[in-house]
Amino acid sequence: MKKIEHIGIAVKDLEKSNKLFASLFGEPHYKIEEVVSEGVKTSFFKSGPNKIELLEATKPESPIAKFIEKKGEGIHHIAFAVDDILSEIKRLQKEGFIILNETPKKGADNKLVAFLHPKTTNGVLIELCQEID
Ligand code: ZN
Repeated sequence: MKKIEHIGIAVKDLEKSNKLFASLFGEPHYKIEEVVSEGVKTSFFKSGPNKIELLEATKPESPIAKFIEKKGEGIHHIAFAVDDILSEIKRLQKEGFIILNETPKKGADNKLVAFLHPKTTNGVLIELCQEID
């Protein structure tokens, strides 16, 4: 894994949180993107070499809606950049990690993504992401 690509934060109201994080960073989000298949609307902020991704549910079955229901707003996942997501998935499976989606799916921000089950990573949902070129 190369570096932390972004940290995902689950929020109830994206518009409100966009304002809050714009005040925090001193600059507004640079992108809003809806991932229909995941039932989320996302916005991205730059933080040096990393990003912050805010996620708002767009439907009640969305994983973000369920997360907020259980745990409230807050850090949802940490995403690591990888060069080759398929070989990284194989490597991690051999190490005993449970991959939630063995076939990477298209996520926000032009990325192929896969998630690791938090029960094998000390309760932290980890996202692997590979830039699509
Ligand atoms: Zn993410």
